[in-house]
Amino acid sequence: MSRKPLIAANWKMYKTPAQAQEFVSAFLPLVAGHDRDEIVLCPSDTSLAAVIPAVAGSNIAVGGQNMHFADEGAYTGETSPLMLNAIGATHILIGHSERRQYFNETDEMVNKKLATALKHKLTPIVCIGEVLAEREAGHTDEVLRKQITLALTGVTPEDAEAIVVAYEPVWAIGTGKTATPEMAAEAHLLIRSEIARRLGRNIADSIRILYGGSVKPDNATALLNQPEIDGALVGGASLDPNSFAKIVKY
Ligand code: PGA
Repeated sequence: MSRKPLIAANWKMYKTPAQAQEFVSAFLPLVAGHDRDEIVLCPSDTSLAAVIPAVAGSNIAVGGQNMHFADEGAYTGETSPLMLNAIGATHILIGHSERRQYFNETDEMVNKKLATALKHKLTPIVCIGEVLAEREAGHTDEVLRKQITLALTGVTPEDAEAIVVAYEPVWAIGTGKTATPEMAAEAHLLIRSEIARRLGRNIADSIRILYGGSVKPDNATALLNQPEIDGALVGGASLDPNSFAKIVKY
């Protein structure tokens, strides 16, 4: 089954609206007409309104980095899926390890956010991954199985096709340490087999599983050439238009 690769930029808490626009102006011509891969930019909430009109009519989609699972309510500081929809965002990162680590996001919250994203037709990019201590203790498989199982609880096979999963070993994020292509492929196989067990082989074969964690122009090709790796979620190397364009065109 062929899965269209998806390359997503996670800008984290970087770039003002003006800097985001500057990125888009430089990036658009570099990837114009490139339709082999789906390209998604995830700026901070304050830059969404600058980036969305700037990429209108191009091959680039825009997503949020986080949202609340409620449609609206008294949740100071949060962004609702309705607000993301209204502004024209089409994707949403869910359960990034920095959300889990610094903002106490649990698997239960990830599950609720996933249900909300599906309800509002935002394409969810659900992030999972083990921390170093879990890998060193030989618990990677167990951790990944648990995270994907809890994330997908209650999801029907009909809804599941829209889901994108990102495998991001936490020890590889922002550290310059990348999983080897073989290590990443092994984790992706395990995640896909767990999805197949829960939702059936056809669904599992159609879901894209991205790799994230120190993806750079010089390692992107080896990672993305793995048949199990269906794209990348890129942090640091997505901040510069030239470097992100090189990754997109691996
Ligand atoms: P990195 O971040 O590419 O800087 O390692 C990836 C991510 O956090 O999604």
